[in-house]
Amino acid sequence: MDFDKEISPTFCILPWIHLSTRPNGHVRLCCTANASSAGATNDKKYGGEVGIVKGDDGKPANLNHTDLLTAWNNGYMKTVRRQMLQGEIPPSCTKCFKEEAAGHRSKRNWETEYWASRVSVKELLAMTNADGSVPPKIAYVDLRLGTKCNLKCIMCSPHDSSLWVNDWNKLYPKIQNESLKEIMQWHNKGKVDGATYNWYSDNQEFWNQLHDQLPNFQQLYFAGGESTIIDEHYSLLEECVKRGEAPHIELRYNSNGIELPQKLFDLWKEFKRVRFHFSIDSIGEMNDYIRYPSQWSHIEKQLDLLDQTPDSVEVTIACAVQVLNILYIPDFIKWKLQKKYRKINPWPLGAGLINFHFVYHPAHLNVKVLPQTLKDKIVQKYEEFYLWLKENVSDQPEFLEAPYGIKRLKGLVSFMNSEDWSVRLPELQEYLIRMDEIRGTNFKQTFPEMTEIFDLY
Ligand code: SF4
Repeated sequence: MDFDKEISPTFCILPWIHLSTRPNGHVRLCCTANASSAGATNDKKYGGEVGIVKGDDGKPANLNHTDLLTAWNNGYMKTVRRQMLQGEIPPSCTKCFKEEAAGHRSKRNWETEYWASRVSVKELLAMTNADGSVPPKIAYVDLRLGTKCNLKCIMCSPHDSSLWVNDWNKLYPKIQNESLKEIMQWHNKGKVDGATYNWYSDNQEFWNQLHDQLPNFQQLYFAGGESTIIDEHYSLLEECVKRGEAPHIELRYNSNGIELPQKLFDLWKEFKRVRFHFSIDSIGEMNDYIRYPSQWSHIEKQLDLLDQTPDSVEVTIACAVQVLNILYIPDFIKWKLQKKYRKINPWPLGAGLINFHFVYHPAHLNVKVLPQTLKDKIVQKYEEFYLWLKENVSDQPEFLEAPYGIKRLKGLVSFMNSEDWSVRLPELQEYLIRMDEIRGTNFKQTFPEMTEIFDLY
């Protein structure tokens, strides 16, 4: 079905089948909707936190004071559905449409395609009432059970990683740049609008509603803090098994892969399928710098372990593309190809290469911030890499036209060039200098080709 023509050019399936959570208990339209508020400056065209589902009082719907089913059909969700059916772009979704305009395949594109073969879009539309409400039959939920994490990645913050708290305490009081200070805020240590990082622990109403929805679920998605070290993630999988629901549920992860205990592999066997997106952002010490304080030798060991999993476990490398790694992505792909993994990004997943998504927060790490001289260098390197791929991987149309292969790489470059956010370079510079001071890392040594970031301003 051509959704753009047959339903509406702004239709996305997610508001009909999905809810997403933040680690602080806020409910979201989807995991990337709040990126729609990111821009060249901190002016919020749409008045602040877009992407977060608001309650009828205009405040974020938080699972400490609302519940899943109330959020599902509150005024905000109903408006988003109506806007999509009327061909309008909801403010929470501008990010997807900007990516598409830059030639990138957006989450709206791939999620709608993926889910349209698993649920009946016709039925969903027939069930939609004139006010935008739909019966709560949630097929897919994104659960972020707090911030417990064993890494403190350079693009993360205490909003998503408990390990970041110490670094934030050292960093924040020293920040001089006003825009950086605003970006790095952590108001009241996350306790705003009823939010807490343990919203799920004593929330029986939440668990009751979630368990009631298990027969409807087709996918449980875990992406943060780090679900492989969060007890409630394991309890939920056990509950699915106990209730006999596991065989129809697909588990999906974005995980740092640092801890992969045997009990995880044992539980996975009970489920229909597992899709494990291993978050790796570069190779060697560059990855160690970005995904601090991980160790590359351990990451390689975990990849080897995942490469031995059964066919019901799909493993891909999920690279978050940002200022620090975009230049080195061709090297990263060459490394991945040379490893000849049995089942990590096998064709056609990521065209046999690697999967990519963009970093939007913090905004100073967005690739649009790079100075034009570096952007030009990146364009040149990618052009040479396309030829290398044709010569060394395939020159057949199936590969050359694959949506996640060369086309995806071209999409990264055109997204980078689609806007100039270099006004944020001073905040990027200050951020890197201060993080190096705090962590004892050395940006210039680790990313020697990127030092031009400091040549301007
Ligand atoms: S259009 Fe994009 S941002 Fe909006 S719900 Fe769909 S995937 Fe999320």
